[in-house]
Amino acid sequence: MSKTNHTILTDTFGRKHNYLRISLTERCNLRCTYCMPADGIALSPKEHLMTADEIYIIAKTFVDLGVNKIRLTGGEPMVRKDFPLILEKLASLPVELGITTNGVLADRFIPLLKKNGIKTITISIDSLHKDKFQKITRRNEFEKVWNTIQLFQKEGFKVKLNIVLIKGFNDQEIVDFINLTKDKDLIIRFIEFMPFDGNQWNIDKLVTHQEILDKVSYIFPLQIKRLSDTPNDTSRNYKIEGYQGSFAIISSVTNPFCDTCNRIRLTADGKLKNCLFSGKEFSLLKPLRANQPLNNIIKSALQHKFATRGGMDTPDKLQNPDLHSKNRSMIAIGG
Ligand code: SAM
Ligand code: SF4
Repeated sequence: MSKTNHTILTDTFGRKHNYLRISLTERCNLRCTYCMPADGIALSPKEHLMTADEIYIIAKTFVDLGVNKIRLTGGEPMVRKDFPLILEKLASLPVELGITTNGVLADRFIPLLKKNGIKTITISIDSLHKDKFQKITRRNEFEKVWNTIQLFQKEGFKVKLNIVLIKGFNDQEIVDFINLTKDKDLIIRFIEFMPFDGNQWNIDKLVTHQEILDKVSYIFPLQIKRLSDTPNDTSRNYKIEGYQGSFAIISSVTNPFCDTCNRIRLTADGKLKNCLFSGKEFSLLKPLRANQPLNNIIKSALQHKFATRGGMDTPDKLQNPDLHSKNRSMIAIGG
């Protein structure tokens, strides 16, 4: 097939999929309440997980089908012992490679990341207060993560911060986070809290896109400026006039970006998910191990993609816990 004929990755709504998010592991060194159920999750046996070679082969199959952007996520991608090997293999593919990390181990990989051409890093930090950070992550790693953010900036990386907002917990910190962008060239990304199996989501904990904007506009009525978004962007981008950095809102709940979705996900156990919210999965690892071709499975998986949020297309469906439990926890999907 010619490199420019990418129709195989087009779904029934005409959306072209060139962005693959690969979860390297279901394990994590933090325990964020919105991601990991309180009782933990049953981890897949090691032999059910993709090896570094299998990750490369599956990723290469996607690249041959037109994928030109790959993000490594998890669980925490950097807890995998062979993270350096996986990174090096994937960096040899003609893709823009990104990483989302909780930042706990990231400092030790700076030379590796530089060597493999990584220029941007996304680090999750939900509070600027040590005690709140500990409450949400159930671990005492605030200082480590905060210092790592400074270090990555000093080392010349573009740094994006992911913040999941939860009403009554950290929504009072919206302006504090934005104030970080005054003298620092950071991109602050506020994410609406999304429902997944076992994460105690309910609509009252949601801080909506509009509520975030209202809070910011109240403090910066004249200085808030809308920035242009890039194609397939899942965020709406803004900045405060005169500030070095910018901020963005990712509103998968109140204003999903499904119309322009270009994303496919691969779980650590080698299953393709055509949508973050979809309960349906398509194994690629089993057929790979049975020496079967993957192209038709990938094509078929895309034909099953729903128009909106894995079929949760109304607020009622989104609030139905039975539908959440048809999906995995975020920790086992890969955010
Ligand atoms: N461990 C890495 C980290 O925390 O950045 C990567 C995996 S994590 C699942 C990826 C992103 O998903 C994080 O920014 C996290 O905050 C976000 N996330 C997890 N659960 C979420 C939820 N229920 N709603 C919204 N975002 C969520
Ligand atoms: Fe771990 Fe990231 Fe999930 Fe937090 S959000 S538990 S750091 S995978």
